[in-house]
Amino acid sequence: MDRLFDVSGKVAAITGGGGILCSEMARALAKRGAKVAVLDLSEEQAKAVADEITSQGGTAIAIKTDVLDRKSLENARGIVLENFGKVDILINGAGGNKAEATTSDTFEFFDIPPEAIQWVFNLNLLGTVLATQVFGEQMAKQGEGVIINISSMASIRPLTRTIGYSAAKAAINNFTQWMAVHFNMNYSKNIRVNAIAPGFFLTNQNRFLLTDKDTGEMTPRGKQIIDHTPMGRYGDPEDLIGTLIYLVSDASEFVTGIVVPVDGGFSSYSGV
Ligand code: NAD
Repeated sequence: MDRLFDVSGKVAAITGGGGILCSEMARALAKRGAKVAVLDLSEEQAKAVADEITSQGGTAIAIKTDVLDRKSLENARGIVLENFGKVDILINGAGGNKAEATTSDTFEFFDIPPEAIQWVFNLNLLGTVLATQVFGEQMAKQGEGVIINISSMASIRPLTRTIGYSAAKAAINNFTQWMAVHFNMNYSKNIRVNAIAPGFFLTNQNRFLLTDKDTGEMTPRGKQIIDHTPMGRYGDPEDLIGTLIYLVSDASEFVTGIVVPVDGGFSSYSGV
C-alpha cells in the first residue's frame, strides 16, 4: 500500500496553486515528500503557499505564471527543470467563474457580453490546454508523467446561471479523454491524464453565489445546493486529497481518461 500511493521524490507543477483548492493539493503533495512548484498569476499567493510549505520542512518554489501566456508557461517549465530536473505531475487548477458570465435575477442571459463568456472559456479551457502543451511536451520527452485537470460538477450536469463555466468545464472533460488517448497513442503508454470534478466547495469564485455578501448568510442557491447534496455539507478542500493521491500515484497506473466526482453524492441525486 505504501509503495502504491507513494509520491515522494515526484515533482509536481500546480497551476492555480495559490488558490484555495490547489494550495491544499500543494501542501498535501509536499507533506508526502513531493517537490512542488506553485504556479499562479498572483505571485503573492504562490509565494505564501510555497513559503508555508518550506517553513514546515517541505520542498516548494513559487513561480508567477499566467496560464494564458505560452511564454510565461515556458518560463515556468524552465524554472521547474532548473530546480528539480523533471516534471512528474501537472495539476491544471487555474480556473474560475465571474459574475458577468453568470445570469441572476437582474442580469439576463440575453445581456451576457461575449467577452465574459470568452474570459471564462479562456481561463478554464485554454489555460488547461496551454499548460498541458508546455508541461506535456516535457513528459513526452521523459516518457512518463501524470496530468490532473480540475473540472467541476457543472461539467456533468450544467448548473443554472453559470453558462460559460458549465460549458467550459464540460469541454475540460472532453479534453481529458482526448489528451489521455493522444498521449498513449503518440508518445508513451506511461503518461496518464485524468480529471477531478469537485462538487461544491465554498471558495472565492463562488462565494458571491452561495453567501450573501452583506450578511454572510446562505443564499437560496446555497441552500438548494446543500439540499441536493446527500452528505448535507459543502466540501472541504481536504476532501480532494485522497482522490488526488490515488490519481497521481501508481495506485491508478492503469487508469486514464476518467473524471472522478468528489461531490458528497450531488451528481447521483435526482432531487427526488
Ligand atoms: P481560487 O480562486 O481560490 O483559485 C484559483 C487560482 O487560480 C487563484 O489563485 C488565481 O490567482 C489563479 N489564477 C487565475 N487566473 C490565472 C491565470 N491566468 N494563470 C495562473 N493562475 C491563475 O479557486 P478554487 O475554488 O480553489 O478553484 C480551483 C479550481 O477548482 C478551478 O479550476 C475551479 O474552477 C475548480 N472548482 C472549484 C469548485 C469550488 O467549489 N470552489 C468546484 C468545482 C471546481
